[in-house]
Amino acid sequence: MKQIVHVMHGVPYDFYGGRPHPKVHVDAVEGWGNPFPITVNEALFRNSARGSTLADYVLWLIQARPDIIAAAKIIHLHEQVGACWCAGREGLAIDDPLRCHLQVLMRAARGDYDDWLGRL
Ligand SMILES: [Zn+2]
Repeated sequence: MKQIVHVMHGVPYDFYGGRPHPKVHVDAVEGWGNPFPITVNEALFRNSARGSTLADYVLWLIQARPDIIAAAKIIHLHEQVGACWCAGREGLAIDDPLRCHLQVLMRAARGDYDDWLGRL
C-alpha cells in the first residue's frame, strides 16, 4: 500500500505534508511539514535519497517536537494517505527507502522512534 502520493497526480489523500505552494489549498496549518530546506545537493540529484534533510528532520522531531509525534499518534497518521511532492508517480510506502519526511512522521506515529524520545 502506498501511504504517500504525489500531490499533483489526482490521487485522493487525507492530508497534505508538503511545503506551502500556490497550487495547493490547505484549510489549516497542521504541522506536518518539513521545516528544513532541501539542500542544493539534494535538489540537483532529485531521485537520490534526501539524506541530510531527512536526518535533520528525524533529530528535530525526536528532540524538539514530541508534541507533533503525539498529535500524529492520536489521529493514526500512519493509517492515512498523505500527499507530498517527493512521492513519484508510483507513490511511497512508509517502509520504502526514505525519500520523504512524511515516511519519518508516519513511522513516528506508528511508534518506531518511541525508544529514542527523551533520550537524545
Ligand atoms: Zn515529501
